[in-house]
Amino acid sequence: MRITLHGAAGEVTGSAYLVETEQARILVDFGMFQGGARLEARNVRPAGLSPKRLDAVLVTHAHLDHVGRLPLLLKGGYPGAIHATDATRDLAGLILRDSAKVQSYDVARQNRKRERAGKPPVKPLYDAGEVEETLERFREVEFGRVFSPARGVTARYAIAGHMLGSASIQLSVQEGGKTKTVVFSGDLGPAHLAIVRDAVPFEHADLVFLESTYGDRDNKPLPETLAEFRAIIQEAVRRRSRILVPAFAVGRTQQLLYHLDELFCAGKVKRFPVFLDSPMAIEATRIYRRHPDLFDAEARAMERARAADRRPRHVQPTPTAEDSMKLNDVPGPCLIMAGSGMCNAGRILHHLKHGLWQSDTVVMIVGYQSEGTLGRRLVDGDKSVRIFGERVAVKAGIHTLNGFSAHAGQTALLAWFGHLAPSRPRWC
Ligand SMILES: [Zn+2]
Repeated sequence: MRITLHGAAGEVTGSAYLVETEQARILVDFGMFQGGARLEARNVRPAGLSPKRLDAVLVTHAHLDHVGRLPLLLKGGYPGAIHATDATRDLAGLILRDSAKVQSYDVARQNRKRERAGKPPVKPLYDAGEVEETLERFREVEFGRVFSPARGVTARYAIAGHMLGSASIQLSVQEGGKTKTVVFSGDLGPAHLAIVRDAVPFEHADLVFLESTYGDRDNKPLPETLAEFRAIIQEAVRRRSRILVPAFAVGRTQQLLYHLDELFCAGKVKRFPVFLDSPMAIEATRIYRRHPDLFDAEARAMERARAADRRPRHVQPTPTAEDSMKLNDVPGPCLIMAGSGMCNAGRILHHLKHGLWQSDTVVMIVGYQSEGTLGRRLVDGDKSVRIFGERVAVKAGIHTLNGFSAHAGQTALLAWFGHLAPSRPRWC
C-alpha cells in the first residue's frame, strides 16, 4: 500500500490523500487550497493523480477545503462514485454551488481587466453544471456501517463532531493475506460543540492521518465563551442596541442560533428579533434542520421545544436584497447575522457602513479573521475603516469571541488518538 498526500501537508487546506493498494486506487477528500493567490494556484489536478484510474472517492465532510476540487475529478474522467454521509452531500451541494458562483464572478472581473491589457481570458476551475454532475455521483454512507468501496478494501465512517455529517474514515486493506488498517481523522470537533454529537473514536489503526488546525494549543473553553456571549447580549438588550454578527454561513451560524435559543429558553434574555440575512446561511440552516437524526440529545430536545412553542419564531430569514435593506430601519434590540464572516464581502458590509459609526451598535466577531480583512481591522481596534470607498468612524462596541471553534484543540485531539491501538500489539 502506498499513500500520497496531495494537500493539507504543512498547511491546513487542500486535504487530499491518494491510497494505492495492490487492487485499487482510492482518494480520500479532494479539497480546495484557500488563503491567497499563491496557495490557490495549486487548485489543479496534481500530477500522479489520474482520475480515470481511480476506483473510489471517499469524503470526510463538506467544507470547501475537503470537497472543493471534486468537480476536477469528473472533468478529468473519473468514472466512479463519491461516498459521503447524506448530510455531507447536502452541505457539499450548497458549498460547491456557492464556490462555482464566486469563481464565475471572480473570473468575469479578471477577464474584463485581462481584455483591457490584451491578455487571453482565464476560465473558472469549474462551473455550475459541473457541480451538479459531481453531486449526482454522491452515494450515501451510514455512520458505523462497513462497506466495500473498491476491491480488497472495506471502509467505515465514524462521527467526527466537527459539522453536520462530518466523519472520520477507517479503511481496512487486504494485501498479501494481511489486513492493514488506516484511519483518516478528517477535521475533528471539540467536545460539546453545539448541535452535533461528539466525535466517536476508532479503536484500531496501523496508520493514522490526524488533521489538526490547533494541534499546538487548546481553545478557550466553551463555557467561558458562552458566559461572555450572554453578558454581551444582556448588555445590548439593556441598551436596546442593534447587534451585528458577521456570519460564517455553514456551522457557526447554526451554532450561534442554538446558543441564542438556549438563552431565550432558559429565560436569561427576553426574546428579540434575530435576522438571518444571508441566503447561504438560510439554506444551511434548512439543511441542518432536515437532519435531526444527527443532532445530540440537547439539540433534539431543543427541536421538540421549538415545535411545541406556539409563539411566532424570533428568527426571521431575509433572503432578498430588498428585505436586507429594510433592516436599516429596525430598532434595537435586534441581532443581524450577515455574510461574510471576515467582512470582506457580502451584506454585512452594508450593515457595518450603516452602524459602525453609531455608539449603540454592537459588533460580535465569532470566528477567525485573516490578515488584511476588514474583520481583522475591527478586531485590531482601528478607529476608522474604509467601506465601499468611504471612511467610516468606528464608534460601535467591538467584541471578539474566540471560543466557538469547531476544531478540536490539542487535549481533545490527543484524547481521540489515545483510543487507537494497532491491529496487533507492537510487542508481538
Ligand atoms: Zn472542516
